[in-house]
This record gives sequence, structure tokens and C-alpha cells, in this order.
Amino acid sequence: MSHVFPRHTKNIPPIAVGGEGCYLIDANGKRYLDASGGAAVSCLGHGDVDVTNAIKAQLDKVAFAHTGFLSSEPAENLASLLIEHAPKPLDKVYFVSGGSEAVESAIKLARQYHLENGEPERKHLIARRQSYHGNTLGALAAGGNAWRRAQFDPLLINVSHIAPCYEYIGRNDGETTHQYGQRMAQELEDEIIRLGPETVLAFMAEPVVGATMGAVPAVDGYFKRIREICDKYGVLLILDEVMCGMGRTGSLFAADVDGVAPDILCIAKGLGAGYQPIGAMLCSDKIYAAIENGSGFFQHGHTYIGHPVATAAGLAVVNALLDRDLITRVQKQGAKLKQMLENTFGQHPHIGDIRGRGLFLGMEFVSDRDAKSPFDPSLALGAKMKKTAFENGLICYPMSGTRDGKLGDHMLLAPPFILNDNHMDQLVEKLGKTFDAVLP
Ligand code: PMP
Repeated sequence: MSHVFPRHTKNIPPIAVGGEGCYLIDANGKRYLDASGGAAVSCLGHGDVDVTNAIKAQLDKVAFAHTGFLSSEPAENLASLLIEHAPKPLDKVYFVSGGSEAVESAIKLARQYHLENGEPERKHLIARRQSYHGNTLGALAAGGNAWRRAQFDPLLINVSHIAPCYEYIGRNDGETTHQYGQRMAQELEDEIIRLGPETVLAFMAEPVVGATMGAVPAVDGYFKRIREICDKYGVLLILDEVMCGMGRTGSLFAADVDGVAPDILCIAKGLGAGYQPIGAMLCSDKIYAAIENGSGFFQHGHTYIGHPVATAAGLAVVNALLDRDLITRVQKQGAKLKQMLENTFGQHPHIGDIRGRGLFLGMEFVSDRDAKSPFDPSLALGAKMKKTAFENGLICYPMSGTRDGKLGDHMLLAPPFILNDNHMDQLVEKLGKTFDAVLP
């Protein structure tokens, strides 16, 4: 009998006993192709010797030093490496233990920045509908799925939500992609004016929306306009790259492709690649300086910030991404996989959209391709797809709720960057089997 409290109490999972490259192995010896990388985590695949050796070496040196007293070599080196490649002017890194903590600290940093700057009324965060930013109470409040928040109301911060940028369902007839992106960005300016600019803390968004919408990039020009609007009203721009960052979409930082530099940027999942729990919040010198010249103390912290072993893992992961040229590989294999999905499923009557960037791809399931109408949520397609794929030895990330609330079903694919052509063939074959069994 298991004493672990699993998330799905009626669906006790098998035990993972091994991991080799793109595969996970359970206690019965069954092998699963890990096509979601555990929700965009395992970018290097399983059993990466360089990363495990780096962890062992750090354990032999020093496992823990509280950052209230001492920093560590891997934390210093990882911060420098990230800043070397991050969008400018980001130049400070605050290490945490995961994505929700990174988002939570970003919200608190933004609040403290405005306080230190003499603007205490800036308390209102704007985010986007359908978004997911984590599960701690502040990050949950930021997220835009009303049903996820409902049972925990009242939440701790004031948040309002504007529409996400999702051309497939949002673009009006006759509107160009550019006009659509500008109109969606305009929602932010309208919301800032409605709230009163002096009350607005920050705007938070994912450059490429992951879990809740299935790899939806914003249209060209959208984030540039968002940046202009934030600057005009003194609103901070927080980009959440917890899922889409660290090479996943074909550049180390996803924001680079959109040509925007946020004031605060959150990363996690792929940073530790599953080898250690780690996340980070990057911020600009403007923000750091406000605190340094003000109270001199960031009013936030966890015992495990800047953990030596976690940062040693992160350093080995980022070095692997750069030294092995894995980001170029993501671009190449991502384009190939997307093309294969289009060739195989592009004309499927129930697949409405195949999208994404790099090895961060999504497919949307629709009851009618022309009308783009979602399936009835009572069909619970996401859950059925997940179960059937798993039985077929495929781990993928199907979700419901792509459209507002509980409507819409999609699947997110985020395989390890070491995915080869043979893995891709297996992936497409297993997906086909799953769709045949589940889609009406
Ligand atoms: N932000 C985004 C965009 C995410 O996808 C997630 C996790 N799915 C989080 C934050 C929260 O990260 P964690 O689960 O590590 O707390």
C-alpha cells in the first residue's frame, strides 16, 4: 500500500524505476516514450551523465550553505551564465526551487519596487485569461482560469485578466495578423486606463502559452506593443518563461524571438531539466537598484534559495544546452516534427490547429474543423487521451480548457531535445493510435 498522497487519488500511478534518454521505465519493465518531458522539464532526457556527475561533485564539496551567510560557486557561475545570454537589461538572478516560487517572488519584487519608488498604490496585477502561472496562492491568483481559482477565493492579490493572443480563435474576418496583435495588445492599455494607471503594478504573460493552451505563440508585433504600453504607464512587464524558456522554443530565452526585454523574467522547469528542483527570477538593474538604494532588503525568501546542488545541476544543464548546440537541434527537430504532424494529422476532421515553436508543439481538437467548435467538455477527451496514450507507452500532456473556462481540448508535446528521427516516427505512430481510439 502506498502512503504517498498522489494528485489523482483514484488513479494511482505505476512506479518509475528507470530513465534512459527519451524513455521512462516502470517497475514492470514497460517503456514509455516521454513526449511531454514531464511538462517541458526533461529537456536533456533521462540519465544525463554530465548533469548527474556535476550533482555528485557538488555533493562531495558542499551540499548546503544558507544564502543569509554564504553564496556558492555554482550559484554565482549559473547566474553569470544566464545573464550573459538573457535579454538586456536583465542582470540579476534570484534562485528559487520551482516555477510557482519564481512567479511568487516576481509579484512580490514588483510590489516592493513600486513601494521603494514611492508608488505604494500600484497593487493591481494584470494577466491574461486561460493562463497558468503556478499553484501557490499568489501565482494562482495571477492565473487566468476562473475555475482553478474559484474554491480558493478570496486570493491574496488584485488581478484582472485580459484576453490572450490566440489568432486561431480570436482573429476577426478581414483583419490581418498584425491588426489582430495590435488589437489584443490594446486590451492591456484599455485595462490600465480603466483601473487607473497609478494603481497598476505589472502585466504578466507567457511568451508562448504552455499548459493551458497548448503551445500558443503570440503573433508578431504583439509583445513589442505590450512593452510600449507598459513603458508609457510605468507598469512592469513580467514574462513567465517557466515552461517555454531554456531553449524549449528554439532560443535560450523565448522572449528573444519576440524582441522584448521584460523587467522581470521567470524560468524553472528546463533549468533543472528534472535533475534538481530549481527556478529563477531575473530582473533588471533598475529594479535591483531601487531596492539597494531603498530598504536594501528584498522582503521575500525561502530556506533553499540558491541551493548549491540545485544550481550545480542548473549550471550543468545550461552548459549542456550551449556546448552541445542543443538549441539549434531544437529548431531543426522541432520544424521536422511539426511538419510530420501536419503531414499526418493536418487533414484530420477533429484536429483544428497544429502550432508551436521549437520542440514546444500543440494540437487542438475540435468537433468541427470549419466552425472551430470545441468538443463538449463532458466527453473528457483530455483525460481519455492521456490514459489511452499512456497504455500505448506514450507520455503526452493533453489538457482541456484551451478556450475560456472548461471549453476546448488540446495536447502539448514537449519532448527531450535529444529526440531523434526514430523517436519521432514512434511518437507519430503512437499518437495516431491514440487519436483513432479516442476521437469520435
Ligand atoms: N508558470 C508556468 C507558465 C507554468 O507552466 C508552470 C507549471 N506548469 C508554473 C508557472 C509553475 O511551476 P511549478 O509547477 O514548478 O511550480
